[in-house]
Amino acid sequence: MNKVKQYKAENEPVLGYKAGSKERNNVEKTYNDMFNSKVDVPLYIGGKEILTEKRKNILPPHNHKNIVGTYSQADETHVQDAIENLIENKESWSNTPWKKRCEIFLKAADLLSNEYRSKITAGTMIGQSKNIFQAEIDAACEFIDFLRFNVSYLTEIYNEQPIDGPGKSNQLEYRPLEGFVYAVTPFNFTAIGGNLCASAALMGNVVLWKPSDNQIYTAKITMDIFKEAGLPEGVINLVSGDPEMISEIALKHSEFSGLHFTGSTSVFRDLWKKIGNNISLYRDYPRIVGETGGKDFIFCHPTANIDATSTAIIRGAFEFQGQKCSAASRIYIPESISKKLIDKVIDQTKTIKMGSPIDFNNFMTAVIHENAFDRISNYIDFAKSSDDCEILHGGNYDKSVGYFVEPTILLTKNHQFKTMQEEIFGPVVTMFIYKDDEWLEMLDIVDKTSDYALTGAFISENEDSINIALNKLRYSAGNFYINDKPSGAVVGQQPFGGCRASGTDDKAGSKLNLLRWVSPRLVSRTHNPPTKYPYDYMD
Ligand code: NAD
Repeated sequence: MNKVKQYKAENEPVLGYKAGSKERNNVEKTYNDMFNSKVDVPLYIGGKEILTEKRKNILPPHNHKNIVGTYSQADETHVQDAIENLIENKESWSNTPWKKRCEIFLKAADLLSNEYRSKITAGTMIGQSKNIFQAEIDAACEFIDFLRFNVSYLTEIYNEQPIDGPGKSNQLEYRPLEGFVYAVTPFNFTAIGGNLCASAALMGNVVLWKPSDNQIYTAKITMDIFKEAGLPEGVINLVSGDPEMISEIALKHSEFSGLHFTGSTSVFRDLWKKIGNNISLYRDYPRIVGETGGKDFIFCHPTANIDATSTAIIRGAFEFQGQKCSAASRIYIPESISKKLIDKVIDQTKTIKMGSPIDFNNFMTAVIHENAFDRISNYIDFAKSSDDCEILHGGNYDKSVGYFVEPTILLTKNHQFKTMQEEIFGPVVTMFIYKDDEWLEMLDIVDKTSDYALTGAFISENEDSINIALNKLRYSAGNFYINDKPSGAVVGQQPFGGCRASGTDDKAGSKLNLLRWVSPRLVSRTHNPPTKYPYDYMD
């Protein structure tokens, strides 16, 4: 088979947004325009944009009295229509030449990089309360990288071919799955919302997208970009509304071929159970890809550099208010450096400013919604009331204007303390001090403390200790960072995903993920077929 031309992707440069820069002026203006106007997000079914009568308000988490729009609520008929429409469009999309599919998503990347950059970053600042840097690395750079790198992985995959045999030519045809893919996406990354649909669609699949209610504001911008990039109608259909009802219909459909999920562990387990119960309804064994929760650690070896560790803790724990699946939330500190390190972390944390994302001095803004605010404040209250724990910094919260929770540092005497085990998904970090000569035993405790195994960091200047940790913590994290925070994966550089309760480890932003959305067919052609049945050995 002829090789397809390999596409080489490069990471999108991160813009600086310094005061007075063009990009800063653009994003400030766009933010203010969007914040002071309203948008109605429709359902996207085929070519139709359907505004339903039943709608919900879109409210910025940092200013929840300011309505910036509404989003439509699908009923059962909409969901059924959306699926039937995908099935109607399936054949023409899967027959669309791969080069054309690639061109569409590369065009979407270019639109994000240029015309839509300030809109999608401002939208992420408003709808998900990210500061400008967090919005830039998510909604612009990571999203663009996903789109471009996926094209590069597609060309690599298509080039992976079997060898020919004597008198035979062999070819693998990377067919899309036969039915439709159901993408269910979380609130915390605009890029994940777009990528979970785009990755499967790039490989020739049609996709039903159910975005998070709390990312719907930028989901609309994403759909607009895909349309402008030339994505045909009915390749990705978006339905928002009651997630249980939508999932119930999607997962009972005989053409359901794959789930592309990112979100919490409990929802993923629930969806997996439903798929299991419905297995006899499907034509295919569905592909199930899920990236879920984390309880991510930083382990400081006694040789750890104090400044580097303190930066890793603060950035890892408090960026985007700790609402990254990879956020550092349990920290293991050796006694010998504990005073210096903890003092440094507290001093630095005291300088953190929190407020609206349009004030560029703010490192932190609000958490995503009232339920999240209540869940996080319950953990803080639990810590306050426990004898096993003291609050070293923070511990206050206020939801009168926006859902603001102070960056909170806990110190526990119990390495099995609740906040060392459970995902809080907020700006709360728990520290535990261990005796220096017990660091090896502590690695076993790190491994066994939580059900999750998403990310982890090991900070050390001793090479032997790094090798030991790599072995002992082999299954404790799908993304393991040495001398850095455990968050901030870059597409193409750090393929992302975890195991155990953290997911199926299919590594978003990598070839491994794209392989889940194809069902390869082997085509073998014999040039001179044998014409007699006996073999030579029978003579
Ligand atoms: P979530 O589980 O609440 O929601 C995720 C999606 O599932 C949303 O679209 C939501 O509407 C839908 N959903 C909710 N309940 C449902 C139900 N009963 N049936 C069907 N669908 C349902 O998660 P979230 O709050 O949006 O995101 C935070 C979670 O996502 C955290 O646990 C975080 O660790 C995880 N996450 C993981 C990764 C990763 O790569 N591992 C990345 C981002 C987020």
